Amino acid sequence: MKFSDYKISPLIKQQLEVMGFNKPTDIQFKAIKHILEGEDVMAVAQTGTGKTAAFAIPVVDKLESRNRKGYKGVRCLVMVPTRELAKQIAGVFQEIAKRTSVKTFGLFGGVEQEQQIRTLNNGIDVLVTTPGRMFDLISQGHLDISKLEFLVLDEADMMLDLGFMKDIQDVIKHIPNKRQTLFFTATISKKIKTLAYSVVRDAIRIQISPKNPVAKNIDHAVAFVEMDDKRFFLENILKEYEDKMFIVFARTKVRVERIVAAMERVNVKTEAMHGGIDQKDRFAIFERFRSGENNVLITTDVAARGIDIPTMDYVINYDLPDDAENYVHRCGRTGRGNKRGQALSFCSESEMELLTAIEEYTGEEIERYEIHKDDYMDILNDSDDGSNNWKKLIDLTNKEDGTEDEW
Ligand code: ADP
Ligand code: MG
Repeated sequence: MKFSDYKISPLIKQQLEVMGFNKPTDIQFKAIKHILEGEDVMAVAQTGTGKTAAFAIPVVDKLESRNRKGYKGVRCLVMVPTRELAKQIAGVFQEIAKRTSVKTFGLFGGVEQEQQIRTLNNGIDVLVTTPGRMFDLISQGHLDISKLEFLVLDEADMMLDLGFMKDIQDVIKHIPNKRQTLFFTATISKKIKTLAYSVVRDAIRIQISPKNPVAKNIDHAVAFVEMDDKRFFLENILKEYEDKMFIVFARTKVRVERIVAAMERVNVKTEAMHGGIDQKDRFAIFERFRSGENNVLITTDVAARGIDIPTMDYVINYDLPDDAENYVHRCGRTGRGNKRGQALSFCSESEMELLTAIEEYTGEEIERYEIHKDDYMDILNDSDDGSNNWKKLIDLTNKEDGTEDEW
């Protein structure tokens, strides 16, 4: 089946053609028809499989065909966990709805609110948002969601988990009972599934490849690297593949900054991205990354979910994630659509348990990238970082001693 065969507005079909969307992906094929029929949907499908358009296409179609002229309140609320994602998903809605009368707005904190209020007053059909700023604007009377027709949770498992659940419950208090609720996610636990059922009614459940949440078109490898040596291995890879696009995940903001500084010392240009950076800068950093002006982004899990940059070549887990689920989301930043991607993890001795947890979660063993100890040593020695010279000395001494094998 092609999009041209769907019973949706020709204005949407024309636009999908411009976007190069001819055939629906699996999740789109399974979800769109139910949403068009007015059903609640809970959909689980791997990263990079086109979940955004799976809800955006039918929602835009229904909003367009049930045009409520003159009504200025929000008709579809899409809730997402990060500001970057709000911006991205709003962009997809805007593109799909380009030829229709449906208006979308991405609303988030960290930027001036005056302009946002003006845009809302002009009337917005689809609001894509993170919870914080939205509640501010509701309480100030600038935002009306009382006649909402659609509630969409993207990255639904995260939105229903501890950090956001209270916000979602607050939203539900403000919106009509008679509405369509749509959940989309790549991962979901039993606990969250139960919670989800308390929010939807007789939802259609769609699950694609339920056994293994990891996207099929990503190759995974893990290299055993000691904590203090990780930066030399990163330097080595970034220099060898200097024209490729990398997203590098570290555990904390401080570690992200340290990695950027370490790469700067060896003349590798990277940029840091984390929750401690001012929002305007965060968007600018992302823009430079998307446009290819910068090709190495060092980040925390704040960028693990949902971000869609189709040209991403490599995901590097500089530190393994504490939460096995996040392994799936981080790696899912590559291998988008039909493209293949590579994910490489650095695992130190202290992270072995995390590795086991990830393999138990995905049900698959990650390929071991064997590094011969001579090669390992070469990578340390090849570093342009002067502070590594002591290592060279020790190495030399060991060689002279003939104790080379014992380090
Ligand atoms: P997910 O939310 O499942 O991780 P996205 O919705 O971000 O995935 O989509 C991943 C990529 O696939 C995007 O770059 C999007 O433009 C592309 N895509 C989605 N649907 C189609 C389609 N039907 N045909 C071609 N490309 C598509
Ligand atoms: Mg997504």
